[in-house]
Amino acid sequence: MECYNKAPKSVVRSKLGKKSVEKWQRDWVHTTKGQITKEHFPTVADRLKVKINLTNNFTTMVTGHGNIRSYLYRFKILETPLCSCGTETQTIDHLLYKCERLTLRRRIKSHLLFAGIIRSSPFSPR
Ligand SMILES: [Zn+2]
Repeated sequence: MECYNKAPKSVVRSKLGKKSVEKWQRDWVHTTKGQITKEHFPTVADRLKVKINLTNNFTTMVTGHGNIRSYLYRFKILETPLCSCGTETQTIDHLLYKCERLTLRRRIKSHLLFAGIIRSSPFSPR
């Protein structure tokens, strides 16, 4: 007797993948870790849709861990967290949105994005 209750492997794989992402999302919502990363990627499913070339700088920007002064100061590697622009602590938000030394670069990138010359970045302007 033939059994028609068996699901194809692809269906089982797809359901398991969905369940895995749902569990990952629940864990992501409840963890107290990764607050900076959550600002950029609030949902696991949306993050998985974006192909990202992971570089050290990108990872630093979306985690806050790496070669930025506030992070290095926290671990007593630097004596001050002050940005080289001299206005405030060098955080990821400062570098992405406020640092006066990077204003021109932000404006150029904004124009290039608007003109469609470069692709959108995963960072949304504030
Ligand atoms: Zn600065």
